Amino acid sequence: MTDQRPAPTSPTAPQDAMTAWHATTADAALSALGTGPGGLSVAEAATRLDAYGPNALDAARGRSLAARIAGQFRDVLIHVLLVAAAITLALGHMVDAAVILGVVLINAAIGFVQEGRAEKALAAIRDMIAPRAAVLRDGGRTTVDAAALVPGDIVLIEAGDRVPADLRLIEASGLHVDESALTGESVPVAKSTRPTPADAALADRICMAYSGTMTTAGQARGLVVATGSATELGRIGRMIDAVETLETPLVRQMASFGRRLSAMILALSAVVFAVAVGLRGYAFDEAFMAVVGLAVSAIPEGLPAVMTITLAIGVQRMARRSAIVRRLPAVETLGAIGVICSDKTGTLTANEMTVRDCVLPDVALAVAGNGYGPDGAITLAGADGEALRDGIERAERVDGAEGVDGAEGLAATLPASSASELAAIARAGLLCNDATLHVAPDGRWTVEGDPMEAALVRFAAKAGVDQDQARAAWPRIGLIPFDSRHRWMATLHSSAGNPEAPALLCVKGAPEVLIAMCVADENDRLRWEDRIEALARRGRRVLAIAARPVADHRMPDVARVADGLTLLGLIGMIDPPRPAAIAALAAARAAGISVKMITGDHAVTAEAIGRDMGMVGDHPAATGALLDAASPEEFTRLAHERHIFARVSPEHKLRLVEALQSRGAVVAMTGDGVNDAPALKRADVGVAMGNKGTEAAKQAAQMVLADDDFASIVAAIREGRTVYDNLRKVIAWTLPTNGGEGMAIVAAILFGAVLPLAAVQILWINMITAVGLGLTLAFEPAEPAAMRRPPRTPDAALISRFLLWRICFVSMLFVAGTFAVFQIGLARGHDIAGARTLVVNAVVAMEIFYLFAVRYMAGPSLTLRGILGTPAVLLGVGATLAAQALFTWWPPMNRLFTSVPMDLTDLGIATMAGVALFACVEVEKQITRLLRRRR
Ligand code: ADP
Ligand code: MG
Repeated sequence: MTDQRPAPTSPTAPQDAMTAWHATTADAALSALGTGPGGLSVAEAATRLDAYGPNALDAARGRSLAARIAGQFRDVLIHVLLVAAAITLALGHMVDAAVILGVVLINAAIGFVQEGRAEKALAAIRDMIAPRAAVLRDGGRTTVDAAALVPGDIVLIEAGDRVPADLRLIEASGLHVDESALTGESVPVAKSTRPTPADAALADRICMAYSGTMTTAGQARGLVVATGSATELGRIGRMIDAVETLETPLVRQMASFGRRLSAMILALSAVVFAVAVGLRGYAFDEAFMAVVGLAVSAIPEGLPAVMTITLAIGVQRMARRSAIVRRLPAVETLGAIGVICSDKTGTLTANEMTVRDCVLPDVALAVAGNGYGPDGAITLAGADGEALRDGIERAERVDGAEGVDGAEGLAATLPASSASELAAIARAGLLCNDATLHVAPDGRWTVEGDPMEAALVRFAAKAGVDQDQARAAWPRIGLIPFDSRHRWMATLHSSAGNPEAPALLCVKGAPEVLIAMCVADENDRLRWEDRIEALARRGRRVLAIAARPVADHRMPDVARVADGLTLLGLIGMIDPPRPAAIAALAAARAAGISVKMITGDHAVTAEAIGRDMGMVGDHPAATGALLDAASPEEFTRLAHERHIFARVSPEHKLRLVEALQSRGAVVAMTGDGVNDAPALKRADVGVAMGNKGTEAAKQAAQMVLADDDFASIVAAIREGRTVYDNLRKVIAWTLPTNGGEGMAIVAAILFGAVLPLAAVQILWINMITAVGLGLTLAFEPAEPAAMRRPPRTPDAALISRFLLWRICFVSMLFVAGTFAVFQIGLARGHDIAGARTLVVNAVVAMEIFYLFAVRYMAGPSLTLRGILGTPAVLLGVGATLAAQALFTWWPPMNRLFTSVPMDLTDLGIATMAGVALFACVEVEKQITRLLRRRR
C-alpha cells in the first residue's frame, strides 16, 4: 500500500486542500489514498499517524499565568480589604496593614493553587470521555481513539456518532447528518455516495461527512480524507467545547450574598465609627483601627474560594466513582435528585448477553454457557405442541450447565427438518448483524459492536455456523438499520457462490412486531405469543428472526420488507443484572429516591428483571402503548405510580421527565441513543453512558458514566449530597466565627467598654483560622446519615431558617465567651495585654471546638469518628495551634501583637471556653432534634 503514493514527509504538507474529494468517485478516492477494501494495515496507519500528526484540534489555550493570578484579586471583598490595608498603612499601622495584606495573599495563593488543581482534574476527566471511532484496520473492525485516525482509514459511523474526521462516503444507508456546527443549518442533510459537481458548496456536498458534525440517523462507511486542522472544522478554527469555569448557581448566589453582607458590614462600621468618635470619645486613630478590625474580621472574604474548592473536590470525588460531570451545576443538583429514570439494558444490567433459548416452529432448544466464550452445547428441551411450552419451562434447568449431548448428540435427537431450521435461524442471526467477536491473547472474548448481536454470533458458532465463513459466503448488499420506531433491522445478502440465485433478506427484531409481519393465522399467532410470554417471564430478552428470498436483489423499502416474510423462530437471551446495581437500588430506596426502569424491551421481561433486582412495586409495567392511550392527566399519574416502563421509545422518555417534573420532582434520566438527547437535556441531570452512549447523548448530558453502571449514579448522588452539606457547613462555621468577633467589638464600643481584643489581634485570628480551620470543611467526607434521609427540597434556600438560627446562636456564644474570658483574665490579675492574649487563645479554641461540632450538622459530634476527624481537619488544627503557640510565646510575635506568654491555668481557661461552647452546641442539637421530632 505504501508504495502506491509517495510517503509523506512532513505532518503539514501531505493533506492536500486542493483535492475536491466530493467530486471524485468513491473508488477513485480509495485508490488515491491507497486504501483497500479492508482499510489500512495497522502498520501503515501508524506510519501515517507519524506523518500527519494526531487527528485533533489544538486545545483552547488556557489563561495566562498573569491572568490567573489577577483573577484571584477580582472579588469585591478583596477590594475592601485592600482599601483597608492602604488606609491603615497611611495611618502608620505597619503591622495591621501587613496582617491585612497577609490575609489577602494567603487567600489568593490558596485560590490559585486550588483552581489550578481543579482545572487539571477537569482536563483529565475530559480525557476520560474523549471520542472514539470504529475503523477498519487489516480488514477487521476495531475501535480507536478518534485522535488516531489518519487519511486513508475507513471509519464506520452510525446514528448518534460525531463524525470524527472529514469523510468521503463509500457506503451510506439512510444516513442523515446535522451539519449545524459547520454550516449553521440545523435540518439534517440526507447523504449518499454520489459525487457532486466540483464547485458544489459545502452544504451541498452530499457524499461528504465533515468532522464535528453529528449523525442523526442511518449508518455509513467513509474514507478519511482529512484529519485534525486540515478538516473543514479545523480550517474555520472553531472549538466545539468551550472551557467552563468553576461557577455554579449556588456559588453565584453566595457571592452576591457576600457582597450584600459586606455592604451591610461597611454601613454598620461607619455607624460604629461615628458613635465611637462622636459619643464615646475614642481617639480617631483608635476608633478607626477598631472598625477596620471589625470589618475585616466580619467580612467572609474566604467564603467564595472555599465554596469553589468544595465543588471542585466534589467533582473529583465523583470522577473517582466513574461519574464525570460535564456541567458543573449538576454537582449541586445531584444532591436534590428525587427520581432516577434508568435504562434497563446496560445500566441496570451488565449488557453481556448470552443466548439461552432457541424456539423453532416445532422444537425448543436449550443453549448452555455464559458470556461470549465457545463453551456450551445446544440440547433439545421440548418438542411439538404443549410439550414445546413445557420444554421452554424445562430449559430453565439446563441454564448454565454444560451441555451433555454435543453437536452429534443434538443431530441424533433432532428431526432433520428442525436441524435445517436451526441452521437457517443461526445464519440469519449472524448475517443480520454488525458485531464481531475477537479472542484476546489472554483467552478472553471481546465484543466489537452490539452485545446482543455478539450473542447471536456466538449462538451461530454453537450451532455450527462460523462468522467469517458465513459472512464471506453471503456478502451484504443492502441494509435497513435498527430503529426504535419500528424495532427491527433488515439486511440483504447475495450468494457469493451463486450470484444468479435469489438474494436472502434477513430480519431480526422485537418478536411481537415480527409476528405481526409474518404470521397471518390467528392460532399460530397465539401459539407464538404464548412462547414469547414463557421466555419473557424468565427474564429473557426475546428476539424474533425471519427471512425470505428476494429475486431482484434490490432492498425492499421499509413498508415492503414484510411481504412473504417467514418467521424462523425466537431467540431468548440472558443479560445478568449488574451486582453493584442491586445494592445501589436498595441504597436509593433508603435515601428516599424513587427509581424508574425505562426500556424498549418486552414488559414481561422487564418485570422479571425488576423482580430479580429487588425493585418492588404493586403495579405492573406501563407499556408505551398504554402511555400513548393515556390522557395527559392519566399520563402524569402513570409516570408517578409505575416503576417499570417497557416497550417505550425515546419520545416517551421526554414526556416522562416532563410529567415527573410537573409535580416538582428533580429528575435524573439516563440515555445513550441519539433520540435520547431531548430527554437528557430536559432532565434536571441528564446522564449519558460513557461506553455504549453516542456522542449525541454525551453532548446533551450533564454527567457521563465512565462505566455505564447504575450504581455510579447513586454514588454521584451521595457525593452531591455531601457537597451540599459541606457548603452548609462552611457557611455555618464561617459566618458565626467571623460575626462573633465583630459583634464583640460593636458591643464594646456601644457600651463604652474596653475592647477585649486589639484590632491587630482580630486580624490575626481571622488570618490563621479562615484557612487553617474553615477550609478543612471542604474536605469532609459524607456523613453516615447522608443517604438515610429524603432528598432536600429543590428550592430550599442554602441558608435555611435552621442554619440562620444556628449562625445567630453561635455568634452570641462567641460574644459571650469573649467578654467572659476577658473578665476572667482581669479577675486573675492580668493587665489588659494579658487578658487580651487569653481572649485570643480562647476565641481560637472556641473556633476549633466549633469546627468539630459543625462537622455533624444535626447528629452528635462526640463520637469516635467525630473526634478522630479527617487528615485535613487534623492538619488544619495542628497548623492553627502551632501559629497560636508562636503568637503567645515567641518574643518577636509578642512585640508585634502586644501579646504576653500565658501560664498553664490560662491555657486551661482558653480550652474550657472551647469545651463550653462545644457543649452548648451539642445540647442545642439535641433540643432542636427533639423539637423537630415532636412537630
Ligand atoms: P433497551 O431499552 O432494552 O435497550 P431497545 O430500544 O434497544 O431496548 O430495544 C428494544 C427491542 O428492540 C429489543 O428488545 C429487541 O427486541 C429489539 N432490538 C434492539 N436492538 C436490535 C437490533 N440491533 N436489531 C434488531 N432488533 C433489535
Ligand atoms: Mg438498547
